[in-house]
Amino acid sequence: MIFKSQNKYQDLRKSNSFIPPFPRPFIFRVEINKDFDKTGKIISAILPSSSFLVFEVSDGLQPQLLEWLNSLDRRPTDLSFSLLARNPGDLSGQVLLALRHLRRFNELEIIVGASEIEKGSDKIIKALKLVEQSALRTKAVLEIGNEVETGNLKDFLTRLFSQTSTAVALRRAEREKLNLANKWEELVSSYLSNLLPLSFEECFPEINPGLWLESISCRGGFGSGYVTAEGVLKPCRLSDLALGNLLEKDLETIWADFLKIRDSSALCPLKVYEKRRQTINAPPPNRPFVLESGLKPVPLFRIRQEKCGATLIKGLDGLMLTEKGLKIIKEVNGNRTLKALKKKFGKEAVSLIFALFLQGFVRLEK
Ligand code: SF4
Repeated sequence: MIFKSQNKYQDLRKSNSFIPPFPRPFIFRVEINKDFDKTGKIISAILPSSSFLVFEVSDGLQPQLLEWLNSLDRRPTDLSFSLLARNPGDLSGQVLLALRHLRRFNELEIIVGASEIEKGSDKIIKALKLVEQSALRTKAVLEIGNEVETGNLKDFLTRLFSQTSTAVALRRAEREKLNLANKWEELVSSYLSNLLPLSFEECFPEINPGLWLESISCRGGFGSGYVTAEGVLKPCRLSDLALGNLLEKDLETIWADFLKIRDSSALCPLKVYEKRRQTINAPPPNRPFVLESGLKPVPLFRIRQEKCGATLIKGLDGLMLTEKGLKIIKEVNGNRTLKALKKKFGKEAVSLIFALFLQGFVRLEK
């Protein structure tokens, strides 16, 4: 038996030196306007570090954009991407077919603005149905704010969920706080308790974090970042903190400079990265957790080698590892036991596997 108490697990996790405490972003949201030359340069700057990109477009799915995506699709890189489109326009079969042919394409998400929710737009529902019919994955990203009546949102969601099988993510329309937080909480809870596919894209601190913390795609600046059409890297869409410009400096320099001069908590006022890790991964408090030495860790990730170390990728999630961590993880193949890994690399190897297990990157089998 290697570990058996919650306390020990916490100590070991703290002393784990294979997972960098401040991982630089590897999942990016990138704004795209019509300047594809500039976008191309920005993408080239982040591509070596990216495992997943979401392109946010405001000008519809123009032929030029599709051509550009096609060229990105052909680049020899280990990457997938989604499109988040406002005003997608008339989604012709030709556009949808072009997207279907992209090998690295994950999902077409459609932004539904506050004014469209108020109108209960038929156009959006029609567009989502068309995407579904073309066998592409899709999602509606609804922008909510004080100008949206909860009653109107409810009507809109009821139509959306009854007429399509689309998942829905909520994000903020404006920076202002939501008034009537109780009403919003009630509304969201009712959909979640009916197991409807409703999630949050970003934080909503005025609402109970239990409703959004697990589902947000934002990682609080660690592992995820937002890039404007001008190349400015920020922790998230709503942040005013410019970490640097990717057209002027490379990502590693921007990240290293930031960590040198700013406290890492400046990235996200809510410290969501740490909170998420604790909420999602921690076993229930006061419950002993036993790790048998005969257990065999099975990888649920793919490895993407970096200049120093690696990124482990699992779906849309990723985790950075140091070089020493990479050496250990290369031996995780479902055949080696924890005992064997401990014998070869020491107790810290087991601590690493445990941390990965808690984050859903390995399964432990007998
Ligand atoms: S970085 Fe922090 S403040 Fe910004 S959206 Fe993400 S969780 Fe919210």
